[in-house]
Amino acid sequence: MSRPDAFGSAAPSGRDDEPLVSLDGVEVHFEKEQGLFEFFEEPDTVRAVDGISLDIEENDVLALVGESGCGKSTLGKTTIGLQRPTGGSVRYRGQDIWAAKDGVGDVEIPFDEIRSSLQIIHQDPGSSLNPNQKIVEILSQPIKLTHPNVGLNERRERIYSLLERVGMNPAADFADRYPHQLSGGEKQRVALSRALLMNPDLILADEAISALDVSLRVEMMDLMLDLQDDFDTSFVFISHDLSNARYFAEHGDGRVGVMYLGEIVEVGPAEELIEDPGHPYTNVLRWATPNLALDAAGAGEPPVRKIDVPDPVNPPSGCRFHTRCPEARDVCREETPELRGEPGGHQSACFRNEPDHKYWDSQPVED
Ligand code: SF4
Repeated sequence: MSRPDAFGSAAPSGRDDEPLVSLDGVEVHFEKEQGLFEFFEEPDTVRAVDGISLDIEENDVLALVGESGCGKSTLGKTTIGLQRPTGGSVRYRGQDIWAAKDGVGDVEIPFDEIRSSLQIIHQDPGSSLNPNQKIVEILSQPIKLTHPNVGLNERRERIYSLLERVGMNPAADFADRYPHQLSGGEKQRVALSRALLMNPDLILADEAISALDVSLRVEMMDLMLDLQDDFDTSFVFISHDLSNARYFAEHGDGRVGVMYLGEIVEVGPAEELIEDPGHPYTNVLRWATPNLALDAAGAGEPPVRKIDVPDPVNPPSGCRFHTRCPEARDVCREETPELRGEPGGHQSACFRNEPDHKYWDSQPVED
């Protein structure tokens, strides 16, 4: 259910029977930047996100994980309406986000309201905080924008209580500092406060803990999850580290989504996906994450035929993982597996999960 914010204003309406955000066959294809000598050639197309369908519900947690360049940041930004997809649709409470932006059709929720409801915190909070403004001024802006009639005293009260809530005590002391007078963890808390001041339905935490000291990462994840309860907010949490994705999804009672070359190859509850992976690539991530404390993690040879990730400009045919997969058979070069399993539960895209698939009669791939 959408709810009023801290100042009593109504939240965006939309249809409550619809998912909070729904992606249907979303594609984001970019033209790759060309070098000087390639000027007259056709530009290459990078398939950053390629045909992803996904629902995010109220108070949901989705932790996206995958190697660098797999498209997880692009998918996150597309989910919150910061990146326009080149194919498919992204809906917020049933409203097509880009139709709202372009004023096409019957717009039930204005684009500005959608953008306010879908917030982001970045890996480097310093770059998004104005170095010439005190924290209180930085945090006043979203309130002035969304609640122009709220007076100075009420604004300060709200900012101080939020700073205290994110662990910045005494709030008055932090409020009068400039960003360069804060540590990395404190800046990230300010960025989180700024996002929460917009009363968001969903926050994209894009590698938001990656730049923090290891000792602070769990603390920051716990804080985000506490605030998720207090503010009824959903989180899409992006990390290249499976142990962080596992912690966030497990403690937030959510899901982990594994991405490979622009596709989600496995999604499901953290424990199930890690203890019993349905996709050989998830096994690679397990192997590469020794602090998961699993027998398979970090032990022996890597469970891949090749270490190198193929170029997303020219992804492999069929199953995109077939060039590295130790279980690949000839059919994997020609046919593309779909995500199968319980919708909203544990799903994976590998022919090995289909007992009657012709995979089982196909010949193993030889390099
Ligand atoms: S479909 Fe084939 S190549 Fe793809 S992950 Fe499964 S076994 Fe490996």
